[in-house]
Amino acid sequence: GEEQLRDGGLHRRRVVVLFSLPFHGHLNPTLKLAALLRARGLAVTVLHTDFNAPDPARHPGLAFVPIHETPLQDTAVSPDSDILAKLLALNAAIAAPFRQALASLQDAVACAVVDGQCYAAMDAAGELGVPVLALRTDSAAALRNMLAIPRLRDAGYLPFKEEQLDEPAPGLEPLRVRDLIRVDGCDTDELCGFVTSVADAVRASVSGIVFNTFEAIEAPELAKIQRELSLPAFAVGPLHLLSQTPPPAEQSLHAPDRGCLAWLDARTPRSVLYVSLGSLACVNRAAFEEMAWGLAGSGVPFLWVVRPGMVTGGAAGEEAPPPLPDGLEEKMRGRGKIVTWAPQREVLAHDAIGAFWTHCGWNSILESICEGVPMLVQPCFADQMVNARYVTHEWGVGMEVGEVIERERVAKAVTKLMVGEDGARMRERARRLQVQASAATSLALDSLVQYILSL
Ligand code: UDP
Repeated sequence: GEEQLRDGGLHRRRVVVLFSLPFHGHLNPTLKLAALLRARGLAVTVLHTDFNAPDPARHPGLAFVPIHETPLQDTAVSPDSDILAKLLALNAAIAAPFRQALASLQDAVACAVVDGQCYAAMDAAGELGVPVLALRTDSAAALRNMLAIPRLRDAGYLPFKEEQLDEPAPGLEPLRVRDLIRVDGCDTDELCGFVTSVADAVRASVSGIVFNTFEAIEAPELAKIQRELSLPAFAVGPLHLLSQTPPPAEQSLHAPDRGCLAWLDARTPRSVLYVSLGSLACVNRAAFEEMAWGLAGSGVPFLWVVRPGMVTGGAAGEEAPPPLPDGLEEKMRGRGKIVTWAPQREVLAHDAIGAFWTHCGWNSILESICEGVPMLVQPCFADQMVNARYVTHEWGVGMEVGEVIERERVAKAVTKLMVGEDGARMRERARRLQVQASAATSLALDSLVQYILSL
């Protein structure tokens, strides 16, 4: 190990290369893992796309190399296109440039840790003879679900049939059929095609899987995935806790409105509901209005992230956030604060926050758990349904807003969680998970480093 790490001399330096697809929720954990590996003495080079490129100045000690991907199709960047179309377009755009960038690195590459949704990069690295680890920025449960999709289709569960929605998903309990990974507007064959590309790349090229999760919440899922893939799995999360990057220095693709922290300072402890659907999820105008009226009608103070482009049907590329319904401001009576992007980790860590209404992106779930904040779940697509099911039924730290977003139900759910007894129990359990999360050690990371050096 050590001699291979030494700069210069007879041995060429061996670097670990990391590559993430340019999504907010993938880049952030990847850069945290990069910093952690660097802190353990490994030389780290981050390959990245020009689109959503990270700012090297924020990550001292890491080397950055752009891959100059082929121009992205509209589907890869438009907020309206579905996640599967984005993933396919990105994989196509990066395949050749990634391979070229990796092949032309001056240093010897010890191993490439690449985005586990990026079959193009896994394949390219494998073909170049570079050992590959897949970095999953979702849960182990979500990857098990993903790999099971062709089997579930063959068994007749997909496409979904209304009468089967509440049946347990075979082999994936506690998931029901309705909780399975889903991408609206794309057909089952398309989804199976993508999954097969990922699964084939994993089987052909990958020597191990790295997860941003921890044993206390996913031990059984991790054990199952190791068995199913016959590959070592490293649960190195929660990465944002272990890496201890102070939030202001974090990679952010949007500028957070830090003014909301002062607004929170003026609220009483646990009185505010934080509402955010992450960086990609959208709702239609009707659902947006029901959310707005439900929040205002609940009487509960709230901090709501309303992103430009978050409401579907607006003009493409619109910079301004969607307008609030007429008369809402009056109804909110100063109880609501609306921002276009929040410093989420700091918000969740703030005393004033009582609960989090989330779309159930995996990063959001981990961040909420790590601060002991219970959740109101409104999953929108992809693995979010899986995550929501674990939040509500496996860990008991959250409840559903309801399948239909309707103002009365919203207001009821919000009050139940914020001031009801059920809410108090969920908060208690969230606190316990918080303790377990902070006890998650870097042992898994140590074994990952050992493994990388042995490859
Ligand atoms: N986030 C943020 N400010 C916001 C909304 C989201 O900083 O106003 C961050 C959040 O902390 C998380 C990431 O964006 O780290 C969203 O990732 P997640 O996996 O939850 O959802 P995605 O955006 O990938 O759907």
